[in-house]
Amino acid sequence: MNYRIDYCIIKHILIVYTGKFKRINVMNSLNVVMPERNFLFMGKKAKLILCVILSIVILCGCTSGNRPVNTPGLNSTGKTFSIVTSFYPMYLFARSIANNIDNVTVTNMAPPQTGCLHDYTIRPGDMKLLEKADVFIINGAGIENFIQEVAHQLPLLKVVEASKGIQLLKNNANAETEFNPHIWVSPSGAIKQVNNIADSLVALDPGNADLYKRNSADLIIRLNDLKSRMDSELKTIKNRNIVTFHEAFNYFAKDFNLNIVALIESTPDRQPSPNEIIATIKTIRDTGTKAIFTEPQYSADAASTISRETGAKIYVLDPIVTGTDSPPLDDYFTKMNKNLEQLKEALK
Ligand SMILES: [Zn+2]
Repeated sequence: MNYRIDYCIIKHILIVYTGKFKRINVMNSLNVVMPERNFLFMGKKAKLILCVILSIVILCGCTSGNRPVNTPGLNSTGKTFSIVTSFYPMYLFARSIANNIDNVTVTNMAPPQTGCLHDYTIRPGDMKLLEKADVFIINGAGIENFIQEVAHQLPLLKVVEASKGIQLLKNNANAETEFNPHIWVSPSGAIKQVNNIADSLVALDPGNADLYKRNSADLIIRLNDLKSRMDSELKTIKNRNIVTFHEAFNYFAKDFNLNIVALIESTPDRQPSPNEIIATIKTIRDTGTKAIFTEPQYSADAASTISRETGAKIYVLDPIVTGTDSPPLDDYFTKMNKNLEQLKEALK
């Protein structure tokens, strides 16, 4: 409710009414002049009329068709809407979609240095955070392997899967999971995930629907621009063969028609065996691959060995899974632009 306007209306009515009240008393047979604006000395009829007028004013304020004015920290139901995200890329998307909405908070669960959540073990503090959440936004597609445990302990928690309805790529045969969860690394995948997250927030927090829609539309315009620019700048490269660190870039490679000939770590967080390194060296030689891409979150030791043996140069591609506690809103774009520069340099 817009309290400032309602207060003004009430004040105005009181002034008008007490003026009339004074006249009534002056005219009465006892000729007693009542103190102005003193409710205690009003007659019963006068009190009743005043109460009716105040009730009408308050009801009109509550039922007016105007969108409620946001009070910082509160929404139309008098409560903050609390969004918790599972890890860094979901945090970036949700923060942009909820940007500048006073009564919505976005908190990231996994520390921003965690990286991909492949082997993440949920901590007691995480459960405490989720107990107070109105919604938990996850990537899905199997990367949050703790989600069953969360659902078991907090059966009423609303969980939104950003990857819902998106066609998943299959992982290589050695991977721990059947499907590849790294959808956010591709700009077209990111667009679908942003749409999914925004649609869910609109449904769960309808009081802020217009703001979620406006913010997500802005974000999607920027993602589409990024994709178009990357498309045009990567269109002319000659050698499209690359080696990536783990299977984080499969959707990205599909977007831009790149050919991932080998992975340095076929299972995330497990160092490659000597036989796997030998096999990767052979593949690089056989395919004439010139570039190996490491990730800033992982050691480049195995990549260095492979580079020395093959002459393929090392570059860095960032799957955008780490950052600071309060990252800039456009961190996804900053890192994707760096990825584009690395690819252009590596594959020219
Ligand atoms: Zn990963």
